[in-house]
Amino acid sequence: MAFSVLHFLYCSMILSPFVTFSVVAQTKANIVIGDSHTAGSSSSPWLVSSPSGDFAFGFLPQDATPDQFILCIWYAKIQEKTIVWFASRDYPAPKGSKVEITADDGLLLTAPNGDQLWKSEVTVRASSAVFNDTGNFVLQDGGSNSVWESFKDYRDTLLPSQTMEKGQKLSSKLRRDDFKPGKFELFFQNDGNLVLHSINLPSKYANKNYFETGTIESDTLSAGKQLMFDRSGGLYVLRENNQKHNFSEGGSGVSVSTTEFYLRATLNFDGVFTFYQHPKGSSSGSGSWTPLWSEPGNICKDNLAEAGSGVCGYNSICNLGDDRRPICNCPKWYSLVDPNDPNGSCKPDFVQSCAEDELTKGKDVYEFEVLTDTDWPLSDYVLQKPFTEELCKQSCMEDCMCSVAVFRLGDSCWKKKLPLSNGRIDPTLNGAKTFMKVRKDNTSLVVPPIIEHKNNRNTMIVVGSVLLGSSACLNLVLLAAICLSTSYVFRYKKKLISVGKVETTVETNLRCFTYEELQEATSGFDKVLGKGAFGIVYEGVVNMGSVTRVAVKKLNSFLLEEVQKEFKNELNVIGLTHHKNLVRLLGFCETEQERLLVYEYMSNGTLASLLFNVLDEKPSWKLRLQIANGVARGLLYLHEECSTQIIHCDIKPQNILLDDYYNARISDFGLAKLLNMNQSKTNTAIRGTKGYVALEWFKNMPITTKVDVYSYGVLLLEIVSCRKSVDFEAEDEQKAILTEWAYDCYTEGVIHDLVENDQEALDDKKTLEKLVMIALWCVQEDPGLRPTMRNVTQMLEGVVEVQVPPCPSQISVQYSLV
Ligand code: ATP
Ligand code: MG
Repeated sequence: MAFSVLHFLYCSMILSPFVTFSVVAQTKANIVIGDSHTAGSSSSPWLVSSPSGDFAFGFLPQDATPDQFILCIWYAKIQEKTIVWFASRDYPAPKGSKVEITADDGLLLTAPNGDQLWKSEVTVRASSAVFNDTGNFVLQDGGSNSVWESFKDYRDTLLPSQTMEKGQKLSSKLRRDDFKPGKFELFFQNDGNLVLHSINLPSKYANKNYFETGTIESDTLSAGKQLMFDRSGGLYVLRENNQKHNFSEGGSGVSVSTTEFYLRATLNFDGVFTFYQHPKGSSSGSGSWTPLWSEPGNICKDNLAEAGSGVCGYNSICNLGDDRRPICNCPKWYSLVDPNDPNGSCKPDFVQSCAEDELTKGKDVYEFEVLTDTDWPLSDYVLQKPFTEELCKQSCMEDCMCSVAVFRLGDSCWKKKLPLSNGRIDPTLNGAKTFMKVRKDNTSLVVPPIIEHKNNRNTMIVVGSVLLGSSACLNLVLLAAICLSTSYVFRYKKKLISVGKVETTVETNLRCFTYEELQEATSGFDKVLGKGAFGIVYEGVVNMGSVTRVAVKKLNSFLLEEVQKEFKNELNVIGLTHHKNLVRLLGFCETEQERLLVYEYMSNGTLASLLFNVLDEKPSWKLRLQIANGVARGLLYLHEECSTQIIHCDIKPQNILLDDYYNARISDFGLAKLLNMNQSKTNTAIRGTKGYVALEWFKNMPITTKVDVYSYGVLLLEIVSCRKSVDFEAEDEQKAILTEWAYDCYTEGVIHDLVENDQEALDDKKTLEKLVMIALWCVQEDPGLRPTMRNVTQMLEGVVEVQVPPCPSQISVQYSLV
């Protein structure tokens, strides 16, 4: 190494792990061009300490990722890791990164691959550097003039003898251990006022100040000139007329000793600017940072971001802690969007949407969680006054836009909408009652994945058509819901991937459960949802970041041998499919004796129960059309849009499930391959269900996606008529086979018979006719005549006209064979 080493500083190894990083520090009188240090190189640690040894400059490993380093300045003699300056906000430096003193770029930080991570901008060529006892690292020119110094490259902390000029600012970290730029700034405005405000990232739009020194005077002489942190520990704004304006009321009465204490003022990641002291001199470096004063007085109340989330994230509630720092909490039945960011936004653990409310009208879905003195002051959309508490609750309950109602002042009712911003507990609200609308059935918590990357176009068309057909107000809510769901899906996906990485042996985003986990999740396989050809399905609840209701399918043990080989390969394929009309496979479990599949729980049952429940009224025509479209889109995805083509082989109303929004979601796709079903042509190997299978299964013909098209045709006729494909109890024999009866109705011009007295369908005769014609094309005996699912969706959407279908012919043959 090129520098002259004055002495080595040995710190006790028995101190905290942090102190062990500074095992060897060098005090440097002068650091010269070309000096360098590599992150993580234990043989030659280049930890420069200031002459007194109080500060060190070098690489510190990050707590969470010890292979990543921060180039920074910290207190070298105390146990508590306290960084006062750091080089790059954007990237931590991977092990092997190098910092070098260069003439042209000053301090230059490069990654092991040579990429430049950060550099100090020098005004003039640098020729040496010094590290002062104040904690200031200074680059100098040949005449020992400063060309760059850490004291002028502001981060989040000020130290004694540091000053700040107009136009400069401190900027908080993003989180406690995340050095990226955060959302709070201490800004010395050009008008002399020193202010605190939050910014909206990434644009940095500044919200209203939540603290000001007010050093802006009409008389320019008394306006602020400089922020001073003097050597004796005073922190104040120096006015143009050289008078001092104490930064904080609290600060004026505090006397501090810089000989006995380290002092620092830090803009914390949560927006509070705090002045701290720490005892010097203890050989063990013990003691802690004590806040002497801080601003603002009550950040939860003082900060009101008119165009941002406020101190905490959206839907969160800010409560002031003893140290005047905010504590952010999610309301009950809400959880953190990012579990690693306690000050971040909260999302409801349940679904609330006008679209769903319309469908579930009459059902008592919500209840109120009552909070006191809690408010989101800028999230109102309506004020009702005079109003009673009872009316206030009722009007929120019946209003699908309403998420919270605040009743206050004896006669005023503010209704509020999501996302809620600036949430706070404020005792001065004097007994305000806050009614939060939450779902009664708090276990139906999962927001179904709505939007899939690959299908953005399709989704946008759907969104577009939904939006065109609804009111402007409803549109906003729908858009918000869609945006929320989209981001949720992203996060959810991410969460799944990360969970999967830790726990699964399969390289996929599926979670690998242990048998015990699923046993516990289903309370010992207690509640049976249903039984199918391949096993029993149980209801359960698992924790996937938030409480998630699931359906667990326990595959019959006689299948095990067949399943064994291909199980994980096939799971990988299924695990990669994401579409809003498919039931997501969330995970699996594999033991010697058992194979289990864990699916999203579908709260509204099967299409079979919706269509064929004779006791209920027929579901609305509109809903049935929506379901028919959904199934077609799901199938199109399986056939053409996912990475590996999947032929379902068992499309029937029992395998179409309905989610919280009554979206059609195809289940059991991929099972045909997963269960190693030989898609051959023998009767025993028929994967499918009587009444829905195409003739290829019985003939010596290849099995293609057209078998699903056939089944879809049958399903479509069932959706139209709300009756089963085969009904030997039908009063008229002619009607026993739905496909045949449908063709008869079509040719005889009595399509209306198919829907009986379903007025909605009769009023929409054109669509009715179109659906029947599409279905008849789908059930053609000759697979070559059947459309593809893409054609089907185009016909459904009206992009392509439907031609007159020929007679499907020989349709009945299959029933005699099965
Ligand atoms: P097949 O074996 O041909 O698929 P099936 O669909 O009737 O026939 P299963 O798939 O085993 O049989 O499902 C049995 C029942 O379990 C379904 O009818 C449905 O009521 C319920 N079920 C299945 N998956 C879910 C799910 N993800 N959410 C809620 N209920 C489900
Ligand atoms: Mg099924």
